[in-house]
Amino acid sequence: MVQEQTSERGGVGSSSSERSMTNRRGEEAQERQQLSARLSQIRYKILVLSGKGGVGKSTVAVNLALALGRAGHRVGLLDVDIHGPSIPKLLGLEGKPVGMEEEAIAPVSFGEHLKVMSIGFLLRQRDDALIWRGPMKMGVIKQFLKDVAWGQLDYLVIDLPPGTGDEPLSVCQLIEDADGAVIVTTPQELAVIDVRKCISFCRQLNLRVLGVIENMSGFVCPHCGEATEIFKRGGGERMARELAVPFLGCIPIDPQITAACDEGKPFVDYFAGSESAGAFERALGPILRLEERDLSAQPQTTSITEVSKSKEHKTMRIAIPTAGGKLTAHFGHCEQFALIEVDTEKKEILQKEVLDSPPHQPGLLPSWLAERGANVIIAGGMGQRAQNLFAEKGIEVIVGAPSLDAETIVENYLNETLQAGENICDH
Ligand code: ADP
Repeated sequence: MVQEQTSERGGVGSSSSERSMTNRRGEEAQERQQLSARLSQIRYKILVLSGKGGVGKSTVAVNLALALGRAGHRVGLLDVDIHGPSIPKLLGLEGKPVGMEEEAIAPVSFGEHLKVMSIGFLLRQRDDALIWRGPMKMGVIKQFLKDVAWGQLDYLVIDLPPGTGDEPLSVCQLIEDADGAVIVTTPQELAVIDVRKCISFCRQLNLRVLGVIENMSGFVCPHCGEATEIFKRGGGERMARELAVPFLGCIPIDPQITAACDEGKPFVDYFAGSESAGAFERALGPILRLEERDLSAQPQTTSITEVSKSKEHKTMRIAIPTAGGKLTAHFGHCEQFALIEVDTEKKEILQKEVLDSPPHQPGLLPSWLAERGANVIIAGGMGQRAQNLFAEKGIEVIVGAPSLDAETIVENYLNETLQAGENICDH
């Protein structure tokens, strides 16, 4: 009898928990559907990331959105930086009431082309979000993505919470078809280490890095025009080159930027023609050309400073050990690595970078190449042990490739005409 009751209770309990699990799954599926319906009205989604707060991520997001708007696009700017939603302040929109539109949150208009929504509009107190627990924050962020009535947009620029923790991770996971990320850093050593984390975060999520912007890079005296490197300049650029992602440019520290931000005036609009506004526009240029590239049917090779588009196509990075520009069989002692990014569906080369190989050290190459985003290595020969080490890092190894120049090998690989010969292993 006792046994029966226990099993019955167990049965009732498990079926009610199963029901609530099924309900939850149903709700989640519905939410996903609503989210993807909302996001399907937006052509390009660009995320703005930084390794930590205070480096100018929101300033870049605002000026990127404005630059896209000036180019005639319909743009949305979404601020999900839950701990420091500074977009309303940067645009002078603090305290603006938020309305409803067909059961969704209506974004606030800024000028003719820009619609803005910030978590800051909904917080009664600036510090409200600090007391929210993790799931509550995620609920708010999800609702934000799903329930803002953007209508049709060409671009949505999303200002993410800083870092590579749970919050930015969840946003990136929710926006499955994001077109890429812009990473903002300052030149100091520590900030640059954070960029490395951001780049590996993007790679783990298969999110394209559109480029790195080094903000607060040097100070130009407004009186004498002399440039002073307050923090060492060039750290972000070095890191971008090392990890083979595009470097978009440096923006100096400019008191006019601070003043404009404090007064809620979009900097690039108010100080058009200044050196810093020019630096901003140069850095954002490749992102403004995303559409051009998408529309262009021509296969193209892009330089490290340009951005290419692989919307809805699979991209991957192929590493080839070279000497004198050609594949060398001695992969462990090669002079350089050609790192070639390709679109496997369009079968075209998107970007090529040649990197000096690191000092010879057993076991180093798999992690060195994984850090630079390689998915495949095409080599002349390689022993099984080395192949296993690459496999552990998620890098596929193709052996027996001929000694041709790297681009020809990649083209042959994409067109499935690569003649793989014997695995001539020198290790
Ligand atoms: P984040 O979003 O990374 O926390 P913000 O964009 O809010 O950073 O910028 C932090 C502060 O730094 C703001 O007060 C902004 O005015 C200022 N700032 C950003 N970039 C520059 C720059 N290049 N020169 C001077 N001040 C800047």
